[in-house]
Amino acid sequence: MMRRSAARKEPMPTLRSGDVAVWSGIYRIPHLSEHGRYHDVIVRRGDTTPDCPVCGANMTFDLVRSVPQLSEDPDFSDSDV
Ligand SMILES: [Zn+2]
Repeated sequence: MMRRSAARKEPMPTLRSGDVAVWSGIYRIPHLSEHGRYHDVIVRRGDTTPDCPVCGANMTFDLVRSVPQLSEDPDFSDSDV
């Protein structure tokens, strides 16, 4: 039995360096502001989030907006992954 509404109202998750992204989307990396950078990045589902490219620190990735790829949208998919 399909329950379509459950997955879309969860709080925005935060990833850490080394995590595998569960959601494709735009992530903000607060740590980069310490290096004078403050930008959002796109992480695709299945990507492993990296350490800081400047100092190698463990970073947090705050999901700003999930951006499902077409192939990930259950409405366009024949089968569950
Ligand atoms: Zn750093």
